[in-house]
Amino acid sequence: MINDTIVAISTKLGVGAISIIRVSGDNAIPLVNKVFRGKDLAKVDSHTINYGFINNGKEDIDEVLVTVMKAPKTFTREDIVEINCHGGIATTLSILDLLIEHGARQAEKGEFTKRAFLNGRIDLTEAESVMDLIESKTDNSRKLALSSLEGNLKKYINSFRDKLKHVLANIEVNIDYPEYYDIEEVTRKELKEVITSLEKDLKNLVTKSEERQIIKNGIKTIIIGRPNVGKSSILNRFLKEDKAIVTDIEGTTRDIVEGSIIFDGIELSLIDTAGIRDTDNLAEKIGVEKSLSLIDKANLIIVVLNSSEELIDNDMFILDKVKDKNPIIVLNKNDLPSKIDKSKLDFKHIVSTNTNTLDGIEPLKEEIKSMFKLSEIKEDNYTYLANERQLTLAKKALKSLGDAKVSLETDAPVDIIEIDLKEVFDILGSITGESYSDELLDELFANFCVGK
Ligand code: GDP
Repeated sequence: MINDTIVAISTKLGVGAISIIRVSGDNAIPLVNKVFRGKDLAKVDSHTINYGFINNGKEDIDEVLVTVMKAPKTFTREDIVEINCHGGIATTLSILDLLIEHGARQAEKGEFTKRAFLNGRIDLTEAESVMDLIESKTDNSRKLALSSLEGNLKKYINSFRDKLKHVLANIEVNIDYPEYYDIEEVTRKELKEVITSLEKDLKNLVTKSEERQIIKNGIKTIIIGRPNVGKSSILNRFLKEDKAIVTDIEGTTRDIVEGSIIFDGIELSLIDTAGIRDTDNLAEKIGVEKSLSLIDKANLIIVVLNSSEELIDNDMFILDKVKDKNPIIVLNKNDLPSKIDKSKLDFKHIVSTNTNTLDGIEPLKEEIKSMFKLSEIKEDNYTYLANERQLTLAKKALKSLGDAKVSLETDAPVDIIEIDLKEVFDILGSITGESYSDELLDELFANFCVGK
């Protein structure tokens, strides 16, 4: 039910200076008024902060500040009351329980944001960016989410739809007044221009967005190589020099060590796996399989070789496993005389490192920066499709646009082309939530936290 009144604790429940309990719905103000000892909240102006106490009828529970925000200028476009109470589990939960006793319903995950969407305050791309903003760990991911929250992606998608709307209207005229032969000519010419330019822009958006998924998801990196080549030393250099997100380096299994850092504004999660080798030993084989499966999930594979020793079968085994995966080959221990002939390695990215000196892994860092175009990201306008849902839809729209282009090139009647273009128009509309299903909303907001 959309117009019942919901309540949730919006801050993290625990010991802290302040907790915020948020109430939204038609009944928000009278409901809080019943448990508030202070000014009559029914009479205060909108967007005011009011000092008083929460009282359960027998005793005061806490001294609070209550913010009253009347619809429609609120996040949910409903009346919202926020209670700032003293942070602490007992106080916060008592106030929540009291409001539920008085008829508020505990909000579901993301329900405030869902209401903001259903009441037309934000579109789906903005709703999704709310959670992205909360979860962002790097400055770049924050900027990406904020750009979407400010409506830049929505505006961009709508600009595509506006162009389509214009040609669709022309096609309608053409179908309704077929006797005007020259209108058809104009329409076909215009159609070609519009479809070509839309296709180019949409393709560019999809390609860039895929590249830029690392802003949000980070670069999942796996470091592999036989024992003693210097994998742990490389991981430790990274963790020492760049800001570690996870301070403890956990050995998740005997063979795998991982850590996470912020590298040039992007999260780099590093996994150091020990044993990838050709083996008949069953227990070992399972470990090897596990490490190999990590390779498939990684965005970046770093293969470490000891350049002071000749390549042995185990190195070759590893190189063979990654040959189609665009890895960076690291020739480590370059302070020692080299025994590896670089020209015999058929790989695009080869760097030479030494973990004993401070800047010894710099070539590896530079290679990562250029491979993932990290310096370009800093100059970005941050208007990108931010998740799989948006990307899948954009690709679907691109396919229909391609169909329309083929129809046009094969001189199909305009009403056939119109069907494809309408589909592109609708698919783009489902990115922003012009049309949506209840299941989609349930799935989308299930990833939110309660109170947002
Ligand atoms: P891992 O088994 O691949 O993780 O290798 P480690 O990082 O534990 O390193 C194995 C040995 O090689 C250690 O004794 C390191 O001190 C040494 N080592 C690592 N990197 C270098 C390097 O760049 N130059 C030299 N000379 N020794 C290194």
